[in-house]
Amino acid sequence: MKVLTKNIRDNREPMTRVDYEKAGGWEAFKKAIQEFTPVEVAGLVKEAGLRGRGGAGFPTGVKWSFMPRFEERPEERPAHVYLVVNADEMEPGTFKDRLLMEGDPHQLIESMAIAAYAIGADIAYVFIRGEYIQCQRNLQRAIDEAVEAGYLGTDILGTGFNLTMHLHMSAGRYICGEESALLSALEGRRAVPRHKPPFPAASGLFGQPTTVNNVETICNVPHIINNGAEWYKGLGLHKDGGTKIFGASGHVARPGLVELPLGTKLADVLEHFGGIRHGHRLKALLPGGGSTPLLTDEHLNTPMDYEGVGAVGSRLGTATMVVMDETTPIVGVLRNLEHFYAQESCGWCTPCRDGLPWVERILTNLEAGEGQPGDIELLDLHVKLLGPGKTFCAHAPGAMGPLESGLKYFRDELAALIPDDQAAPGLTQPANAV
Ligand code: NAD
Repeated sequence: MKVLTKNIRDNREPMTRVDYEKAGGWEAFKKAIQEFTPVEVAGLVKEAGLRGRGGAGFPTGVKWSFMPRFEERPEERPAHVYLVVNADEMEPGTFKDRLLMEGDPHQLIESMAIAAYAIGADIAYVFIRGEYIQCQRNLQRAIDEAVEAGYLGTDILGTGFNLTMHLHMSAGRYICGEESALLSALEGRRAVPRHKPPFPAASGLFGQPTTVNNVETICNVPHIINNGAEWYKGLGLHKDGGTKIFGASGHVARPGLVELPLGTKLADVLEHFGGIRHGHRLKALLPGGGSTPLLTDEHLNTPMDYEGVGAVGSRLGTATMVVMDETTPIVGVLRNLEHFYAQESCGWCTPCRDGLPWVERILTNLEAGEGQPGDIELLDLHVKLLGPGKTFCAHAPGAMGPLESGLKYFRDELAALIPDDQAAPGLTQPANAV
């Protein structure tokens, strides 16, 4: 099933604007701005039930509905209203937006133009991961071609709609992908998350109304305009509508990406990647990035959509799985993830800044055979102390997702790493403890 990936060639050479138009491209944009009001476009996306593909699954139409409307009171319209596309794809194991930007940049630019119309934005940014050089080149070419064709600029197609589009290269921290830190970075300030509320719709970029959407999320929009909300909902096999770009890395036979209906069973998704590498069986997988709680072979029948994965205690996240077979020591997986999260903490709040290195230290000691009695309980405690609501943003709670599930499913394996001859229980201090 190809909806978002239908124009993507095997060599990822993107279509020119003319080829994209021959394939039906930019028709949805024309239809949207010539036949629908902005509120109607937003309503259609809401009706389709499109959910955010960046990881959180928040309903896109609902997010758009939070944007203030100035049609009835144009005199109150601020100088600018912004659309920001989050293309800072840095979630461990996640490489799906890269495919869309490299392989079909016009789809993203058209999608952004429709979204900007729907929310009343006149300036749109793509905040893009610094290492994604080819994506940047392809997107810039597509933006230039769209300007040339009159799809971007002022009084677009004689409708009075104005839109300017810019690419912004990230300087390269994981936290820049958190939407409020991203907005700070875009303003040229230190990339630390902001308090929410206010959400970006109320006070976003430069304090103005702003919507932040993920690349894959927004690429669904032209297809909803062209085919309708009912068609879109019907694409899903379980509760959530639409397709999803699933990915797999690690111990599968053929790592990569594939577009499938949302709600495809986990076992069937794995089959598209050739199953677990030859002669081995599934031990665990991260369903959608480093912060999504582990699934195991007991979850192979799970429908892979937001509702389905949520019902078994994890999250679909970005749906790009990191797969591990039975030869993988779980302590190494957790230590590696917590090392990443400790290193990428912005340092703003104490539980995250100091707690994550401590967790990493405990796991490092366990892996080295130097764990102490009480370490497992200490990890349990950190899961609570760094959990939701205990830190300024979702970074540390996200980091606790795989740890909590690792302790749930592989507790005996982790406890067995503590040498029998260890002395009395004690607290493992972080390396930098004073
Ligand atoms: P979140 O649930 O806080 O928010 C999701 C979106 O919904 C945001 O845009 C937020 O503004 C909006 N929202 C939520 N509640 C709202 C409300 N009450 N009113 C108005 N808007 C509301 O999640 P998040 O912190 O934005 O994202 C976390 C996810 O991002 C995790 O799943 C993580 O795995 C993922 N992530 C992905 C990448 C990547 O490369 N794709 C990188 C880092 C993190």
